[in-house]
Amino acid sequence: MPAPPASILAQPVTVLWGVGSERAALLARLEVRTVEDLLCHRPRRYEDRRHFRPIAQLAAGEPVLTGGRVVAAGTKRWKQRSRSLFELILEDGTGRLHCRWWNLPFMEAQFQVGDELVVFGKVRSLKPRTIDHPDTEVVEGGEERSIHIGRIVPVYPLTEGLTQRWLRGLIWRALAAAEPQIVEPWPTLDSTGRLPRARALRLLHFPENDGDAEAARQRLALDEFIGLQLAIQRRRRTLQTKAKSLPCGGDNRLIRPFLARLAFKLTEAQTRVLRETRADLAGPHPMRRLLQGDVGSGKTVVAACAALMALESGFDVAFMAPTEVLAGQQFARFRAWFEPLGVAVELHTGSRKTDGANGATLFAPASAPRASRPVTLWVGTHALLEPTFAPDKLGLVIIDEQHKFGVAQREQLVRKGRYPHLLVMTATPIPRTLGLTLYGDLDVSVIDALPAGRGSLRTFVRGADRLPKVWEFVRDQLRQGRQAFVVYPRVEDADLAAGTKAVLAEFERLKNALAPHRVGLLHGRMPAEEKERTMADFRANRLPALVATSVVEVGVDVPNANVMVIESAESFGLAQLHQLRGRVARSPHPAYCILVAAAKTAEARQRLKVLEETNDGFRIAEADLALRGPGELLGQAQSGLPQFRFGDLARDFALIEEARQLATTLLDRESSPHAAA
Ligand code: ADP
Ligand code: MG
Repeated sequence: MPAPPASILAQPVTVLWGVGSERAALLARLEVRTVEDLLCHRPRRYEDRRHFRPIAQLAAGEPVLTGGRVVAAGTKRWKQRSRSLFELILEDGTGRLHCRWWNLPFMEAQFQVGDELVVFGKVRSLKPRTIDHPDTEVVEGGEERSIHIGRIVPVYPLTEGLTQRWLRGLIWRALAAAEPQIVEPWPTLDSTGRLPRARALRLLHFPENDGDAEAARQRLALDEFIGLQLAIQRRRRTLQTKAKSLPCGGDNRLIRPFLARLAFKLTEAQTRVLRETRADLAGPHPMRRLLQGDVGSGKTVVAACAALMALESGFDVAFMAPTEVLAGQQFARFRAWFEPLGVAVELHTGSRKTDGANGATLFAPASAPRASRPVTLWVGTHALLEPTFAPDKLGLVIIDEQHKFGVAQREQLVRKGRYPHLLVMTATPIPRTLGLTLYGDLDVSVIDALPAGRGSLRTFVRGADRLPKVWEFVRDQLRQGRQAFVVYPRVEDADLAAGTKAVLAEFERLKNALAPHRVGLLHGRMPAEEKERTMADFRANRLPALVATSVVEVGVDVPNANVMVIESAESFGLAQLHQLRGRVARSPHPAYCILVAAAKTAEARQRLKVLEETNDGFRIAEADLALRGPGELLGQAQSGLPQFRFGDLARDFALIEEARQLATTLLDRESSPHAAA
């Protein structure tokens, strides 16, 4: 949190003794610009220098901390000076220790006879006592000594031109100068038993006992999380006080015939979510709801019902999908469902915009008679975000596969019209930690059970050497009338990581491998009509097999497809693979997902085994988060994810929850300052 300008914390590091413009430039490379940045420069690790081992007591083979005074130093060179050995000898009153560095001739300039050294390394032999390539630090006498010796010392991320000892000394002095000015940012924290912030910053750098550094990290992480939660909750409260809700609860006049004609009954989970949604749509504040449900759990029908509620109430609805293929597929689905009900359904994508006639009604001035056009469901892609798309009676915005969009885009669409309701849907099960951080301003509904009557899905991890067998299996399934997806990581050669296969080249090979069955190709760079044609052929089983990049990742619905082969599977995240295989999990036939990993990568194959073991999307997402971090799990679109210095989204769940509650308390107190007393 930014300190008030008068505080030393907000000053540039050049106010500190010993920091001129040159060193300030080096510190800036570490993102350290102000004194506060410096105090928040997090140690990379710690070194316990409380207990030094006398040289005479060193044992071979174990890493030790010791030290002494340099009594001799010199360099030997051979092979026309291309090889060198620099050696120095330390003496501590109990014995002598040789330290050696091979082929690092510049080390010689770092030490002088008479210097006192701290040395950390593994003892290689005892006769004479020798450590090769130890970590070393020259210690200076006087007050400096107590900073670097006899305590747990911090070891920082550095940049060329800075030394540990100098940076440690600088932070020590900065702490001494700034400590009295470090204030508690949140008054409520007084009573929570956490370290005060000033104390936390001291212990972060100079812990006194073993648990101190972690306790300090937690307090500082808590401050980060509270800052974020305050922003999220403030935004939510502003919306609730400023925005009046559009009445979109509906009157069942369209939903009733819609459900009656549907081939199946809604599951209990779907019905529960619809009840929550209706309460929001009829409520006093604009809905802000996240709908989570594993792939195939039936989110689209729920979205359709929500749309019908708004349409019944006389409002337009916009439905945004992440790709043209998906927008096209959902458009076809919604048109088949809604047109018999007298609701207009329009497609609005980059390659296919509303034609003139429709445009004329859509963009009619607000004064045009309302009755002149029926309420409309707009299905589209990012094109819906363009300024030219501006329906004047937009009551509800639905975003499918939310994780493909950024938070900013979500806001952009919602700002169209006067605070329409918002329903965002995602099949990426978001671990609760991340949910509270990313979607803390949304209410959450979960569809936690799949519709009954789904076939079983089994997943197998195989090495690339087993591919011939895999194709044999696929051919057998195709012969029985089933269909198959084959997925490759990327299209363009330029994008390929080493060993990753190019879908275009593989397409040719696969046509042979799966002959006599026909194979179609789908990738992101194809013209939209071509994509649509291929998808239509696949859906109608004119094409039994489809080779695709991960564009099939989300939403494509072809129940007859029961086999998915994913090549170079190790280059996908677990959550992404789980999504992909969801495409075939909806088949009424026994379904198979075969993850093919490059033969060498035993470690990667181990990771893939998680998918053999479980179908629980949440467990998989947690594993992915722990293994690859939140950026990977959520994809680029979520790069709006805040960067934390101290917080760790993969394991700080309890802290995030604590921060959320503290932020609520703080905001309650802000809005009614007297009630708190
Ligand atoms: P997702 O949640 O992945 O978007 P969809 O909405 O595409 O899933 O639904 C997957 C399939 O399940 C579709 O074919 C849909 O018609 C079907 N479905 C949805 N709800 C039910 C239900 N209650 N009973 C049976 N099938 C259902
Ligand atoms: Mg879907």
